[in-house]
Amino acid sequence: MVEIRHATLITNNDRDEVIRDATIQVKDGKIAYAGQGKAAPEFAPERVIDAHGNIIMPGFVNMHTHVPMNLFRSYADDLDLMTWLNTRIFPAEDKLTEESAYWASMAAMCELSAAGVIAFNEMYFFVDSIARAAQQSGLRGVLSRAVVTPAPGVGERMLEESKELFEKYNGKGRLKVFLSPHAQYTVNNGMLEQIAEAAKTLGTGVHMHVSETRGEHETCLKEQGMTPIELCQKVGLLDVPFYAAHCVWIGEHDMELMAEYNATVLSCPKSNLKLASGIAPLTEMMQKGVRVTLGTDGAASNNKLSMWEEMTYASFLQKGTTYDPKTMPAAQTLKLATRYGAEALGLNSGVVEAGKNADLVMVNTNGVRYTPDYDEISLAVYAGSDADVCMTMVGGDIIYEDGKFAFADLDEVKMKLAEYAESMKKI
Ligand SMILES: [Zn+2]
Repeated sequence: MVEIRHATLITNNDRDEVIRDATIQVKDGKIAYAGQGKAAPEFAPERVIDAHGNIIMPGFVNMHTHVPMNLFRSYADDLDLMTWLNTRIFPAEDKLTEESAYWASMAAMCELSAAGVIAFNEMYFFVDSIARAAQQSGLRGVLSRAVVTPAPGVGERMLEESKELFEKYNGKGRLKVFLSPHAQYTVNNGMLEQIAEAAKTLGTGVHMHVSETRGEHETCLKEQGMTPIELCQKVGLLDVPFYAAHCVWIGEHDMELMAEYNATVLSCPKSNLKLASGIAPLTEMMQKGVRVTLGTDGAASNNKLSMWEEMTYASFLQKGTTYDPKTMPAAQTLKLATRYGAEALGLNSGVVEAGKNADLVMVNTNGVRYTPDYDEISLAVYAGSDADVCMTMVGGDIIYEDGKFAFADLDEVKMKLAEYAESMKKI
């Protein structure tokens, strides 16, 4: 039972309501009250936090991550996607172990929680290591084992492993499990069909890289006579909750299909720029009724797991490419980074109101960047930064506060990563 007093509350509700001098009462992991301090009901909290006018807002939902890639930050930069993957990342990934993947995931848990993230949607391998780190951290995680089909039998084995992981972790604590064909260019059509069938049987979603680069999109068109999204529809992947990362190179018909099937786009604007893949047409997608959310991608292609930066890039790139400053205003951008992701993953958070999970972030507004305060949502989205997050709460548990983690010793995590990085240098 925690009571937060004197907060400037960004509710993120349909009316984009901001409440000054607000009180938020947290009980059994949920928000019991969020509103005017003077109207707050009687409450007997175990702890009272005086927010001193700091912003309380919903935590971020990072919709596309590869958390063990924290070990590869600054390892290979300034290359296009295919060169980067084939000459640098795939050989480095061959050196990963359960233990190094665990510690790299722990580093990501620290980075995410300290920057206000309450949930992440993950695709990688070493899923047991990621689950261990996620469970320790208290973050909400949707995990998936990336399936590829480089040789006969390999994809089948990976799909079996995915099903076992589903049984092991789905619905356990704060974890869910999706299935994950890595991408159209790494998975054959037969396996895409099998994954769609398996997702239907299990009643779960599918997380996949889709139309990230022009080359991928055009090769698919040439070889299969249809776009990657059209192919996903053909093999049945759009019949299940479908989460498509990137969607940089997509056409009008692709957007219509995604809207029709209620697919979710996981846009990673910074990663797409760094790998020179392009700019996803988010404004057009949203106009056509597609649900758009934001993610960071891995630490090797971004290189920060910062949803604050994704908000700025996403919004400004749309304004700059549509020549329309009204597109992706601050309040809508905040929803892409929080509420829409929470809704897409079925998390019961993203809005600060009674009955929702207490997945909250406190932003220290003492800095000069928060003065003056005509519009708190504008301040949070356009002037906010990771560095100002002073508290992250998931399900009522404070997992990060004032530089300290409830679940990890940051010095130990950094030391472990430095050790593993030494062995990476010998590749
Ligand atoms: Zn990715």
